[in-house]
Amino acid sequence: MAIATINPFTGKTEQEFEAHSEAEVEQRIAAAQAAFETLRDTTFAQRAEWMRAAAQLMEDDIETLARIITIEMGRPIVGARAEVLKSAKGLRYYADMAEEFLSAEHLTDPSVVGATQAGTRYAPIGIVLAVMPWNYPFWQVLRFAGPALMAGNTGLLKHASNVPQAAIYLDTLFERAGFPVGAFHSLLIPASRVEKVLRDSRVKAATLTGSEPAGRSLAAIAGSEVKHVVLELGGSDPFIVMPSADVERAATVAVTARNQNNGQSCIAAKRFIVHADVYDEFTRLFAEKVAALSVGDPLDESTDVGPIATESGRDELAEQVADAVSHGATVLAGGSAPDRDGWFYTPTVLAGITPAMRLHLEEAFGPVATVYRVDSREEAIRVANGTTFGLSSAVWSTDADEQDWFVRHLDAGAVFINGMTASYPELPFGGVKDSGVGRELAAVGIREFCNLQTVWKA
Ligand code: NAP
Repeated sequence: MAIATINPFTGKTEQEFEAHSEAEVEQRIAAAQAAFETLRDTTFAQRAEWMRAAAQLMEDDIETLARIITIEMGRPIVGARAEVLKSAKGLRYYADMAEEFLSAEHLTDPSVVGATQAGTRYAPIGIVLAVMPWNYPFWQVLRFAGPALMAGNTGLLKHASNVPQAAIYLDTLFERAGFPVGAFHSLLIPASRVEKVLRDSRVKAATLTGSEPAGRSLAAIAGSEVKHVVLELGGSDPFIVMPSADVERAATVAVTARNQNNGQSCIAAKRFIVHADVYDEFTRLFAEKVAALSVGDPLDESTDVGPIATESGRDELAEQVADAVSHGATVLAGGSAPDRDGWFYTPTVLAGITPAMRLHLEEAFGPVATVYRVDSREEAIRVANGTTFGLSSAVWSTDADEQDWFVRHLDAGAVFINGMTASYPELPFGGVKDSGVGRELAAVGIREFCNLQTVWKA
C-alpha cells in the first residue's frame, strides 16, 4: 500500500510520501537505543513534566490535528476534535499516575526468603515497536506512547500507510515536548518491512492494534524471537437488550455505539441481540434512528457519519451486506452504497441473520448493524459468545441478578451494563479469544512493557 493521504470524502490522493530508506530506519533505531540509555535514568517527575508538555502541544494544535484525522480517514470533525482532547488527557493521566503504578514493593518479612530486604520493582525494557491502525490515528498511538515513555521505554511507531500526516506529527511530538531526541519516532515503512525491525535485537517487544492476520503474523515473528507482544485485534461486540431494559434509551445509545467513527471502531457494538418481548419496539426505534443519521462531508460540523476510510473497506462492507441479503436477510435501514463521490456506505440495519451469512461470524468494519431475536438469556449468551471474537460487550437490563449472570457468562474482555463500550485511561482495555492478548491502559497497561525485577539483599 502506498504511503499516502487519500481523502476518503473525494477519493483523491492529496499527498504521497517516500518510505524511509534502510539507512533512515537504522538511524531511528540507533537513536531510540541511545535515548533509552538516557531516559531510563530520568525521574518520574522529569518524564511527567515532558509528558504534560506533549499533552499541551496537542491541545494547542487541536484544529490542525482534527483536520488531519478528518482528511486522512474521514472521521467527522467534531469527533476528530474529541479524539485529540482524549489523547492529551491520556498523556496527562500517565504523567500523574505512572510513579504510583510502578512503585517498588517489599516483603513485610524478608527473613522468610533469607534476606534483609526483598521485593520487586518495575524496570523499563528498552525499545518497543508499535504497529498501529488508522481508525483512531492519534488515540491508538498515544495510549501506547504515554505509558511506554513514562515507564522509561522508548517507542518506534509503524503507523498505517493511509495516515502518514498523523505519523509525521507524532514523529516529533515528544522531542518538541522535551524528551531526549530519539525517545519516540515514526518509521514510514510498509507492513512488509516490519519483520526486519522486530527481529532487530535492540527492539525488545511489540504491540499491534489492527486486524487478526496482521496480529498473527507479528506474534509469530515475536514468538520466534522470544519477544513479548500485546495484540489488540478485531471485535464483533454483542449488544444485548433484555425485557427489563429502558428500550428507548437502549435504541438511542445503540445508534452511537454502532455508527460513531463511521462504524469503524473495534469496540463498536456490531451484533444487537434482542429479547423477543422487546424485539419489535427496539428494532423499530433503532432502524428509525439509524435512518435519521446525517451522512455527508466529514468537515461539516453537522455530519454524523462520513465516508469509510478506504475504498477496499467500503467494497468489503458492500459485499458482506449483499451476501447477507442474497441469503435472506431483511434490510430495516440502508442496505446500499449511495450514488455519490467518496467511499460512503449508508448506515444499515439487517435482521434475520443466519449462520449461512458472512456477517454472522465476520466483523463489519463500517456502519452496518445486525439484529438477532432471542427467547431467553441462555440463547442470548449462545449468540453473543458464538464468534471467535471476545473484545467487549454491552448488556441492557435493570435486573441486578440478570446483570451479574451476564457478566459471569460473557466471553469478552469487558462488559458494559446499560451503556456503550468506550475506552478510558482509567480502565484496562483488551480482548480474549481472537480479539487479542494483553491489556492496554490503567495500571496493567503500563506494566505490560516492564521487567518485573525481583531484588533480594542479604
Ligand atoms: P490492519 O490492516 O491490520 O492494519 C493495522 C496496522 O498493521 C497497519 O499499520 C498496517 O500497516 C499493519 N500491518 C498490516 N499487515 C501487517 C503484517 N502482516 N505485519 C505487520 N504489520 C502489518 O488493520 P485495518 O484493517 O486497517 O484496521 C482495522 C482492524 O483493526 C479491525 O479489525 C479493527 O477491529 C482492529 N482494531 C482493533 C482495535 C483494538 O484495540 N482491539 C482498535 C482499533 C482497530 P499498513 O497500513 O502499511 O498495511
